[in-house]
Amino acid sequence: MKIRQALISLSDKRGALDFARGLAAQGVALLSTGGTAKLLRDAGLAVTEIGDYTGFPEMLDGRVKTLHPKVHGGILARRDLPEHLVTIAAHDIPQIDLVCVNLYPFRETVAKPGVTLAEAIENIDIGGPAMVRSAAKNHAAVAIVTDPEDYPTLLAEMAANDGALSAATRFNLAKKAFTHTARYDSAIANWLTSLDDANVPQTFPKALQFAFDRVETLRYGENPHQQAAFYRDTAPVAGGIASYVQLQGKELSYNNIADADAAWECVKTFTAPACVIVKHANPCGVAIDGKLLGAYEKAFKTDSTSAFGGIIAFNGTVDVDVIAAMSERKHFVEVLIAPAFTPAARELVASKQNLRVLEVPLARALQAFELKRVGGGLLVQTPDAFNVQASDLRVVTKKAPTDAQIEDLLFAYRVAKFVKSNAIVFCGGGMTLGVGAGQMSRVDSTKIASIKAQHAGLELTGSVVASDAFFPFRDGVDVLAAAGAAAVIQPGGSMRDEEVIAAADEHGLAMVLTGARHFRH
Ligand code: 5GP
Repeated sequence: MKIRQALISLSDKRGALDFARGLAAQGVALLSTGGTAKLLRDAGLAVTEIGDYTGFPEMLDGRVKTLHPKVHGGILARRDLPEHLVTIAAHDIPQIDLVCVNLYPFRETVAKPGVTLAEAIENIDIGGPAMVRSAAKNHAAVAIVTDPEDYPTLLAEMAANDGALSAATRFNLAKKAFTHTARYDSAIANWLTSLDDANVPQTFPKALQFAFDRVETLRYGENPHQQAAFYRDTAPVAGGIASYVQLQGKELSYNNIADADAAWECVKTFTAPACVIVKHANPCGVAIDGKLLGAYEKAFKTDSTSAFGGIIAFNGTVDVDVIAAMSERKHFVEVLIAPAFTPAARELVASKQNLRVLEVPLARALQAFELKRVGGGLLVQTPDAFNVQASDLRVVTKKAPTDAQIEDLLFAYRVAKFVKSNAIVFCGGGMTLGVGAGQMSRVDSTKIASIKAQHAGLELTGSVVASDAFFPFRDGVDVLAAAGAAAVIQPGGSMRDEEVIAAADEHGLAMVLTGARHFRH
């Protein structure tokens, strides 16, 4: 069906003129609301104002513009039902074949600091969503355009199709349109239900709606008998793993993406050149150095057995030396992530066609919320934004750590944040020496971390140790002291802190408390 009349009513007027011009050039009559009509008329286009069309002026400060049977009848009438056609003809209602609408900027309005409830309320669009829903419902006959990105392709399709859009295109536009209005109403509900008694927005609304877009379906989930897909936030945080660009390699799996996220979030913590190798969501090697190559060599040394088949992330531009070092020792990795690669590195890595290589922009913004599904519900929290600094540390032992030890203690605690609890991390010289992860007792994590260091042939004498939460008993401290550690960092806060600190003194250790723990489950 050739499009003969279009209604255009836009808050976001990007690309509107070109679209309207393109429609007019294909013989489409244009109807428009105040601001949009002015824009088109000023550009020399013939346009009928909605008030002249309906015989009712726009009124009540724009609250009522298009809410009129002549508009909604023209959109909603079924073209395949003679009764509908007779009815609209009897009421002198012409058909509207295309509706191009986007809504008052509610989300942008409430994002402004100090926004008032009255301002927010005025930015709830009423007539716009009504038209979007009318047109989307009647997609059998009407095209609903809500995304300026679609203008050029739609004009091209019309031009190639005698001024018509196909049923498939109209159906796709309708799906997009209902997504658009659903998100719009979600944003309104989220914001309004977040207001407290004094109308001040709180972090956690009474009911919470999230919006995600499917990036891709995955071959399978955590296990082959599970189905899976990857979704990206509708408004993704800058520098999250979801902004990856895959340069080469096999398709990403569910576990690849989960582990890539763990590696990427960890490596971003560091400002010095850093390398993180992750296996099953836990770092098995983390290091900082003057250069990425040095960081890689050190991270690999921590646990070269586990590093095999791991996910590896760098926080700087990867050069050819790094790729060459990986090739030389035949270090097989599942995914390689960095903000950028030099052309020579790209060229060398291209010889390993199966290796998945991701570029992710290096931005350190944090997610607004972290989500965790539980049976029939959802746990929501703000992210763990604590990143320990030297000024947070409180020395509690007779011995104070040296400056070099403080550097390593800070490094170790930053790594421990990304290790599943109970986390114990031995470090020295800007690298992990032994990582104990995910144990149900802290003393077992400590034992495992020291055994792993011994297996890797790494010397623990003079090392430092981070514990992601307090030591409930002195036993963990006894184990780490026996392994050769010289300094310990932990949050403190146990009922038995005194006993634990006394044990540290007894072993001649330096111990610092951070005051904030890093549980990670
Ligand atoms: P304009 O800038 O053209 O004057 O207004 C365009 C905006 O008005 C669009 O965002 C559209 O969704 C909205 N709009 C159109 N009709 C109505 C209506 O009847 N009531 C309200 N509240 N908004 C409308």
